[in-house]
Amino acid sequence: MDRRTFIHGLGTAIAASTVTTSISSCSGEKQQKEPRYAGNKLKLSFQPYELELRHAFNLAKSSRTKTPGVQVRIEYDGITGYGEASMPPYLGESTESVCRFLNEVDLAQFTDPFRLEDILDYVDHVAPDNRAAKASIDIALHDLIGKIIRQPWYKIWGLSPEKAPNISFTIGIDSEEVVREKVREAEPYKILKVKMGLDRDKETIETIRSMTDRPIFVDVNQGWNKKEHALEMIHWLAERKCLLVEQPLPKEMVDEMAWLKERSPLPLIADEFLQRLPDVVRAKDLYDGINIKLMKCTGMHEAYQMVSAARALGLKLMIGCMTETSCAISAAAQLSPLMDWADLDGNLLITNDCFEGAKIVDGQIRIPDRPGIGVIPL
Ligand code: MG
Repeated sequence: MDRRTFIHGLGTAIAASTVTTSISSCSGEKQQKEPRYAGNKLKLSFQPYELELRHAFNLAKSSRTKTPGVQVRIEYDGITGYGEASMPPYLGESTESVCRFLNEVDLAQFTDPFRLEDILDYVDHVAPDNRAAKASIDIALHDLIGKIIRQPWYKIWGLSPEKAPNISFTIGIDSEEVVREKVREAEPYKILKVKMGLDRDKETIETIRSMTDRPIFVDVNQGWNKKEHALEMIHWLAERKCLLVEQPLPKEMVDEMAWLKERSPLPLIADEFLQRLPDVVRAKDLYDGINIKLMKCTGMHEAYQMVSAARALGLKLMIGCMTETSCAISAAAQLSPLMDWADLDGNLLITNDCFEGAKIVDGQIRIPDRPGIGVIPL
């Protein structure tokens, strides 16, 4: 089945939700072996989808031109919710692991999609880890629920969309020429996010500063190994209109992070250090804020809980993303009015987005005024 066929599906098949049974391969939709039901059970289907990057994405510890993903949908009573898993290699999930997990999940046992707690609790206990796979179900379920009650999630949560922060546009580690090209490409965005952690850190900032004085978020992706070097770099960056530094040291360097936090002139944000809700408490004494990503935290439901926990602990909030289509980006965008900073540019970095959804207008994320997560399959 090609992607278009998968995304659009057949109206009749959607209306007649089915009990599904597992297939062992990763090649797409779960095959139905039982007779069709009248339409009140959740039906899960999925298909791998490789995201093609506009530029090679170079980080302190990796480089790639594609990111594997899996597109998911949950159908109920003639309505379809869309979700997505994105699996950058360093997170340990793959197309195979996500498909294996989704094949294990039996959503046909549920007849009421509003029982979000029960359904997601079941999904979480199917197997440990598998956070992106779990996020794909969580996102599709939120989309479905929003569509049934005909409201976008930012409204269900009572948020004001105009409070969404400006988003940052990511510039990876690259040659001076490519950095210049990316700065030109980033013209519509008010904040740049610069990846660091290799030898050319200062040169990259100086190249950018020769072209623009826009504020910069720095993301080191655990690339500095000495706390003294990190502190010296952070002072240098603070003098060059950088606003914050994400994950300056390896996540295991806990004592060094506490030392650095006491002395840093810029806010330090936890990314690789933190995955799910219980990690928020661990971040409190080591970082000034946390970067929440749906693919790390199992989706929108837990992300919302992490926001509450972080606020109670006095931590700043950033919402981030992996390389994702507008599906997962639009899901994350629903939470963006709660955030101090938003790094939701994953869909802008790919050439084969298969959804229309959240847009960037004057550098700010514009949440679609459509039910659910607000996406339309292309
Ligand atoms: Mg990061």
